[in-house]
Amino acid sequence: MTPESTLRADIVEVGRRLYTRAYTASNDGNISVRLGPDRLLMTPKSVCKGFMTPDMMCITDLDGRKIQGDRDPSSEMLMHLEVYRQRPDVHAVVHAHPPIATGFAVAGIPLTKAVLAEVLTTLGSIPIAEYATPSTRELPAAVARLIKAHDGMLLANHGALTVGGDLFAAYYKMETIEHFAKISLVARLLGGENLIAREEVDRLQELRGTYGIKAPAPICAEPAAEDATCQVVEAPIGRGLRLVPDILEPPAPAFRDRAGTTFPDRAATAAPDRVDDGEIRLTYRELSALIEEAIRSVR
Ligand SMILES: [Zn+2]
Repeated sequence: MTPESTLRADIVEVGRRLYTRAYTASNDGNISVRLGPDRLLMTPKSVCKGFMTPDMMCITDLDGRKIQGDRDPSSEMLMHLEVYRQRPDVHAVVHAHPPIATGFAVAGIPLTKAVLAEVLTTLGSIPIAEYATPSTRELPAAVARLIKAHDGMLLANHGALTVGGDLFAAYYKMETIEHFAKISLVARLLGGENLIAREEVDRLQELRGTYGIKAPAPICAEPAAEDATCQVVEAPIGRGLRLVPDILEPPAPAFRDRAGTTFPDRAATAAPDRVDDGEIRLTYRELSALIEEAIRSVR
């Protein structure tokens, strides 16, 4: 068992890294670790994670009762408690708002495409927990549906959550999620990802066993039930190809929030004048290139 003084120092260090990397702003984010069978060490509420000291931490039991500490525990304590209840293998939880990953969470785009081998072998897929009011019991309920099968997830219109066998394992998963989000964003700006084919994903999954990577659930092809017992990864059948260009997604279906309000499909509302009448739209640069080519051929 790691000494308490070391765990306090580790929380201070991880808080500093989160803040330095701008994964949190102001007093955002929270960190906790298991201190014993029924004890958690947790960041206090309303402090900047970049400037904590070891004496600031709170000790609580697994029901959230404060055992020790001058300050009150994190406002997101309920979410942390839910993770520890459901995952006896988890010894640390990190919550932050890394901007690119949170951008995906705000856009409602999960990081579930088969793109990077390292991400597939470690985190698998990074789904989005449905929107919940921060600091209420809604948030642990949203997380509860996914945490059994995932070590990392986005929180709709909020941030990201990672867990691990120790604090640095949980923290590095937060780095991986933000890094993956950045790469995904750049690839989409450049025209879209090539996806790793299903057959290769199966091969990568076997590597988890070879390298002793502990994943909470296997990768599966089909969308899982609501209480997700596997990691759904979008990977097309390769038919001999190991990389397959991502096909354009059909317009996102309308979705409903918790209150049952139905929102229209964004693609349809964003381009109401788009009609299937054979019209071709070109950018200014594409049009200029066509004209230049035409002039050259006339000469
Ligand atoms: Zn938050």
